[in-house]
Amino acid sequence: MLGVVQGVGFRPFVYRLARAHGLNGWVLNEPEGVAIHLEGSEAALEVFLRELEAGAPEVARITAIEVRAVEHAGFESFTIRESENHGHVSARISPDLPVCEDCLRELFDARDARFHYPYINCTYCGPRYTVIERLPYDRPHTTMKWWPMDQLCAGQYAHPGDRRFHAQPVACPKCGPHYRLEAGDACAHGDEASVEAAVALLKDGGIVALKGIGGYHLACDARNEAAVEALRERKFRKEKPFAVMVRSVAAARELVELTPDAEALFKSAARPIVLAPAKVELRGVAPGNGELGVMLAYAPLHHLLFEAGAPEVLVMTSANRSSEPIAYDDADAVRKLSGLADAFVIGERPIARRVDDSVARDGVFGQVILRRSRGYAPGAVAMLPVNRPLLAVGADLKNTITLVVDGQAFVSQHIGDLEHYQALEAFEETIRDLVSMYEVDWDKLLVVHDQHPQYASTLRAMELPGARKLGVQHHRAHIASVLAEREAWDERVVGVSFDGTGYGDDGSIWGGEFFVGSLREGFRRAMHLRTATLGGGDAAARYPVQCAAGFLTQVEGLPSMSNAPFEFPERYQRARQLIERGVRTFETSSMGRLFDACAALLGFTREITFEGQAAIWLEQLARCCGATTAPLPFPVDGETLDFRPLLAAVVEARVRGRDAAEIARAFHRGVANGICDAVEMLSEANGTSTLALSGGVFQNDLLLADVKMRLEPERLRIWTNSAVPPNDGGISLGQAAMAALVE
Ligand code: ZN
Ligand code: FE
Repeated sequence: MLGVVQGVGFRPFVYRLARAHGLNGWVLNEPEGVAIHLEGSEAALEVFLRELEAGAPEVARITAIEVRAVEHAGFESFTIRESENHGHVSARISPDLPVCEDCLRELFDARDARFHYPYINCTYCGPRYTVIERLPYDRPHTTMKWWPMDQLCAGQYAHPGDRRFHAQPVACPKCGPHYRLEAGDACAHGDEASVEAAVALLKDGGIVALKGIGGYHLACDARNEAAVEALRERKFRKEKPFAVMVRSVAAARELVELTPDAEALFKSAARPIVLAPAKVELRGVAPGNGELGVMLAYAPLHHLLFEAGAPEVLVMTSANRSSEPIAYDDADAVRKLSGLADAFVIGERPIARRVDDSVARDGVFGQVILRRSRGYAPGAVAMLPVNRPLLAVGADLKNTITLVVDGQAFVSQHIGDLEHYQALEAFEETIRDLVSMYEVDWDKLLVVHDQHPQYASTLRAMELPGARKLGVQHHRAHIASVLAEREAWDERVVGVSFDGTGYGDDGSIWGGEFFVGSLREGFRRAMHLRTATLGGGDAAARYPVQCAAGFLTQVEGLPSMSNAPFEFPERYQRARQLIERGVRTFETSSMGRLFDACAALLGFTREITFEGQAAIWLEQLARCCGATTAPLPFPVDGETLDFRPLLAAVVEARVRGRDAAEIARAFHRGVANGICDAVEMLSEANGTSTLALSGGVFQNDLLLADVKMRLEPERLRIWTNSAVPPNDGGISLGQAAMAALVE
């Protein structure tokens, strides 16, 4: 039996089912999944199989059941056998699970042995991926191996009727790990004392580092503006939104508007940070942003903090400085975060690997995962038609890697931006980790990387062992990721791949690309955004006015951009001079940069402080517009979409004094129209009826809504990403799919 069937209470379920139907035999975790040997009447076997499929634990996902007749061995009972490690490992590892209702009840029951115990868990809940050191999933292979079970835990662990039967991380206050709080020289020992001291600090406006499931968080009172400001200062995080944690759905509803689907996502076992329209302003938490990221308490520790009187809304952000990877090792956390946190709440159970919180939203096409990490990783997202193992190393921003074993595509947790040295280390660690966990033979491995010769991921891929290396073009990988999610190998599509930057076939920077083709036949570039010349290399991505300079050199009859209403800083003129002289310039068809240019024209004339900020600002501005606006012109001209009339219209409207929000809205509709015109032409010319949209630009839900509205009456199917991010976090899956089909 294949699927997520290990570590999710599956064997106890099988045991109870077999006993209920008077069947004898055994169940065993095998590297590839779970094996069951059954002896009994045919009728009982049939019922068993039916109920096995229908009644499996909610968190288990069965992907295949194989039934074979075997010799009768005359078993007299049904047992759970110990795992043996043999052969080759491709079992799926369960992602980490939030504390369940039953455990929560015990956590707050003063008569229970695990009253107020932050490491409470059972077969239906608790850590998995973050405690597993190797497969198969058994206690000696987890970070709990250091804590021998006492009589209570061992008894429950061994009793097939118990909720903790074979719960690998099972522990109680007598035998298991504990928490302590360190604040400079002061120290609080014990779980309850640590929680109480942490709560006192949080109430007092302090910043507390909390060891959670996949790493450390920095927490503070989200309603205490001074605390939030202090956190921003110490973390060197100027404006990038913080996520908040609450204890209940009711508390979340006071902060954000949750659609039924958003609420389902919020309560789901992955417990992602859900982005939703904010109802209240928490000052400094998500400055200038109409959306707020909210997540539900998921670790027992979180519930203990809220129960002990912690502020109702807590900022919960990855513990790191700026964009380093999240800290997960105690010594490392204390060293890196001293001066940043006022206290450390340190739990003894080691974290096997870092796994950040995931980020998701309910968009116009349903669930979108913007950061795929805790709760999802390392789940398999597709079965690829390939036998040999593949390792796809992703792109340099928002990196993830994908390992394909026996066709199953395991997508790693979010790793981060590889321009940072620590993220690059984390990237290498994750590769080693997954390759060794699945016992993949390096000599058979096909390593897939981006075509960008200077990407850190490409350079590392080149140094890795492996049978062969294969480069895949960035924007094709985006489209491939959408098709791979649906296992649509032969579907011919028009693929629209819009993002900030990616290396093109011709060595220029692409980012506004239309493809026609399928995974099987490959993707032909059929249309693209008209090319612009931008100045200043990487700085162009940080300064929207520098982007504007590049695009506007092709627009005629401009007013002085230094004066009102534009008031562009000096940098704009300098960038134009560089472009005119051809110094440090590059050619690009990037749609992300076109959004930046428009943001500059509408008032975002400063430096951005996090990736995508100007585009998010522009979307938020457009959302402020209540009126219906006609789309600005964005015509198809041969094989390009011509941005000149679009930007000329923005400039003209601004000079005329039209409201900036209205212009932003009309810009979005114009871009959507341009996309739809191009798509209609291409699908007619090529006889395709499916449209695939991917790339970071399509994180913009307003743009998606406009595209959807315009294409709804057409007979086009629209596919977007849902299991992996549309941003570069989805690239590794797309790379793997492209490589699988050329194999
Ligand atoms: Zn539980
Ligand atoms: Fe991209």
